[in-house]
Amino acid sequence: MLDLSFESPKPKVISGAKFDWELVIGMEVHAQVASASKLFSGASTEFGSEPNSNVSFVDAAMPGMLPVINEFCVEQAVRTGLGLNAEINLWSAFDRKNYFYPDLPQGYQISQLYHPIVGEGEVIVDMEPGIARRVRIERIHMEQDAGKSIHDMDPNMSFVDLNRTGVCLMEIVSRPDIRGPEEAAAYVVKLRQIMRYLGTCDGNMQNGNLRADVNVSICLPGQYEKYQQTNDFSHLGIRCEIKNMNSMRFIQQAIEVEARRQIAILEAGGKVEQETRLYDPDKSETRSMRSKEEAHDYRYFPDPDLLPLEIDRNWVESIRSSLPELPDEKKLRFINDFNLTEYDAGVLTAEIESADFFESVASSCEGKLAANWVINELFGRLKKDDLSINGSPVSPNQLAGIISLIQSGDISGKIAKELFEIVYSEGGDPNEIVEKRGMKQVTDTSAIEQSVEKVINDNPDQVAKAKINPKLAGWFVGQVMKATGGKANPKSVNEIVAKKLNL
Ligand code: MN
Repeated sequence: MLDLSFESPKPKVISGAKFDWELVIGMEVHAQVASASKLFSGASTEFGSEPNSNVSFVDAAMPGMLPVINEFCVEQAVRTGLGLNAEINLWSAFDRKNYFYPDLPQGYQISQLYHPIVGEGEVIVDMEPGIARRVRIERIHMEQDAGKSIHDMDPNMSFVDLNRTGVCLMEIVSRPDIRGPEEAAAYVVKLRQIMRYLGTCDGNMQNGNLRADVNVSICLPGQYEKYQQTNDFSHLGIRCEIKNMNSMRFIQQAIEVEARRQIAILEAGGKVEQETRLYDPDKSETRSMRSKEEAHDYRYFPDPDLLPLEIDRNWVESIRSSLPELPDEKKLRFINDFNLTEYDAGVLTAEIESADFFESVASSCEGKLAANWVINELFGRLKKDDLSINGSPVSPNQLAGIISLIQSGDISGKIAKELFEIVYSEGGDPNEIVEKRGMKQVTDTSAIEQSVEKVINDNPDQVAKAKINPKLAGWFVGQVMKATGGKANPKSVNEIVAKKLNL
């Protein structure tokens, strides 16, 4: 088990006109399963296809069509559950959630209300080194996505694109354990990171691959602790749900704006209505979409077209044994094996591609130095060119080559940066470049001695001054470095200058 000890962050407090208020947040994240075909049909899930080109008879709800479960999607839901340390339910079932929507031709969404495939789990949400929140997961269920209604292409008509209809979503439901807007965003970041490590969801928020519904309520200080002791939700205040947010920034803004709205109502003696709201980033407000429905409003009932989903314990265990090393484990290992700070290990493990790149570099040179070079030089340079780690012009091998040359004392840190720039823009083998262009550090002490003697002989005034003020030795070091084109080993130069000046 993971042994990264941490403290919980303080809850966010917002001051109203009369009282201080605390936030209580629970989230429902819809994550699209990274599957080439839909949950109950063989139609493609490719993003950006011609409208209504990825629609099977099942998706279009033609009479007599029957859904057939996609085993790959089930496997991804199980994988995700295992990655969140959750219970896997070997017996689960699908229900119909009835509602009319133009982009949902069935007139119902197939979902899992009563018996979800994944039960309780948890996510450790990192806030800063040593500070993290343990957020409990209540459940994960599988369900179909709806299509897309398009209202802004024609003044008189709306269009419907059913390409997304029937795509498999995992709805990940948390307990109300999140205590501030930053934590809410960090929670989604962590979920996304874990799913990307697992390969179960691309987490591309722009494409709507990952969307968050946020339940926000406010309470007075001390009330949350009462809820924790009694599990009585009435201590948490009435919640409002803000639907369908697909950016970390909007999630944070919406929570803040919604909390202030609720504070104003309660402090004026009013009552918060439980409802579903939408966040409007242009006006920076949330507005009512509909009063909150309860499960019975949807007339949920078991889908008669689908058998209960029974999975085998051995199958679950074989999926468990194929899980990759997850972000928390990897981070801890980087801290221990490479002597990295928690912060650096966090930066390197944020994306699995960066972590792999770093490990590949560190396999043939010193780890701490490798981390510094990947984080400071490489990431900085890639950012400048708007490149991802996958598009890095410098390979792990090349970077390890540069770092090894520093370690062996063949080049100084300063020359290494020049070398990095050459490799980055022109490619090539670092060793060969250093040989060919004569970039090697001069460690031959007799050559350095000659150069030091020349500077001393040419500058008797400076020598006299340095005898009185030994700090002026630095000037001689600078002159020698200049004379050798920065290639003299600075340590040797320092020593020889001090010796020759008799300091
Ligand atoms: Mn849902």
